[in-house]
Amino acid sequence: MIDTDACDLDELRGAIRQFLSESPRPEGLRNYGPTPTPADVQPGRQWHRYLAAHGYAGLHWPTTYGGSDAPVPVQAIFAEECARADVPRQLAMTAIDLVGPVLINYGTDAQKRRYLEPIRLGNDIWTQLFSEPGAGSDLAAVRTKAERTSHGWRVTGQKVWSSGAKSAQYGILLARTSPDGHRGLSMFIVPMDAVGITVRPITQIDGESKFNEVFLDEVALQPDALIGGVGQGWTIAMLTLSRERLTLGCQAVAMFKRHQRIVEAARGRGRLDPVLARTMTKIWARMWLLRFTWQRAVAGEDTASPAFSVLKIMTSETDRDLCDLATDALGTDACTEPGSEDCAELVHAMLVGRAQTILGGTSEIQRNILSERLLRMPKEPRWGHQIPPSHPGGPE
Ligand SMILES: Cc1cc2nc3c(=O)[nH]c(=O)nc-3n(C[C@H](O)[C@H](O)[C@H](O)COP(=O)(O)OP(=O)(O)OC[C@H]3O[C@@H](n4cnc5c(N)ncnc54)[C@H](O)[C@@H]3O)c2cc1C
Repeated sequence: MIDTDACDLDELRGAIRQFLSESPRPEGLRNYGPTPTPADVQPGRQWHRYLAAHGYAGLHWPTTYGGSDAPVPVQAIFAEECARADVPRQLAMTAIDLVGPVLINYGTDAQKRRYLEPIRLGNDIWTQLFSEPGAGSDLAAVRTKAERTSHGWRVTGQKVWSSGAKSAQYGILLARTSPDGHRGLSMFIVPMDAVGITVRPITQIDGESKFNEVFLDEVALQPDALIGGVGQGWTIAMLTLSRERLTLGCQAVAMFKRHQRIVEAARGRGRLDPVLARTMTKIWARMWLLRFTWQRAVAGEDTASPAFSVLKIMTSETDRDLCDLATDALGTDACTEPGSEDCAELVHAMLVGRAQTILGGTSEIQRNILSERLLRMPKEPRWGHQIPPSHPGGPE
């Protein structure tokens, strides 16, 4: 059981490292990241249950709900040590990291009783049903409609990029309950086996299918599917997004491992020339900057701090650039030998590295947040959802 009151964080790190190194790994377990593929679900669930039994599931949840109420630095150490041990730190991120805090803050007592424990124990997988074909960065443009009926709600619309939807028991859905911009959005719980839901997996460039399109055709929801009040969807969505950014900043440890593998791959192929060596050194320095910035931010314990937007940009752009270097290290082997032992992981990293600057809010949007909220620069023009007037200097 984790000692969250431990004041010596190095000792705590040592204890977590030892625990993870001695833990039996379920067959087939791999470090699949925040979302399991359907094939990862069984070993991931077994691993999650083991973590839960030893007090490592829901570290950030209050003790009332079975969590450990762990301070942010302790959560960060656990995330880093999982990366070092090459294991996932939960079955799926959406449920425990995003939905848990939402229900704890906005759920009714009945919702908390029904949904929190199965999440903590790794029984239920949740998917985040926010993005739509016309609403990603501009989430307030969500068009999926939830209408009141005499029995509850009727939902119709389409979602996209819904990670893990194929394996999920529930979705957390952002839907429009009135035309009134972001004040017209509400949040709902959707059972993924409800009549009228179709989940269509999207095959990614790496051959995996973590993403899905989700079609909702007159899906009937009970009145108690609503989270918080009508019109509170935007506020709740912001809580999940800030939590998502918080969890994304702790990837430096995994990057150091990847950096080492890239250097070894280049050296083994006689490709570690002075140009590549210099580039690898520069990126190594960026990784240390990232690690120190992350440590400073988590020591501050202010999870709403804009520092996490800085970290999100630093993490995703450093990781993308690092993954890109796999091609320099592997050379033509990246195309001719993609399945060979030392190539496979790096080729995979190279292919999925592009997603980093998009997921959890794009780099451009993070820069907008920083310029407006931290630097107090003028706000970017917002045209609501009308067509903007043509730019005076732009093409006709
Ligand atoms: C790996 C991964 C997992 C994901 N999982 C989920 C999930 O589980 N659930 C879910 O709902 N969504 C998920 N998403 C979707 C993700 O949240 C969106 O892709 C993201 O918010 C960007 O939206 P978009 O794809 O619609 O791009 P758009 O918003 O159309 O943006 C296109 C480009 O325009 C730029 N842009 C847009 N607006 C501005 C602006 N105001 N100023 C400057 N530039 C701008 C963007 O930065 C981007 O480069 C996932 C995405 C990825 C990559």
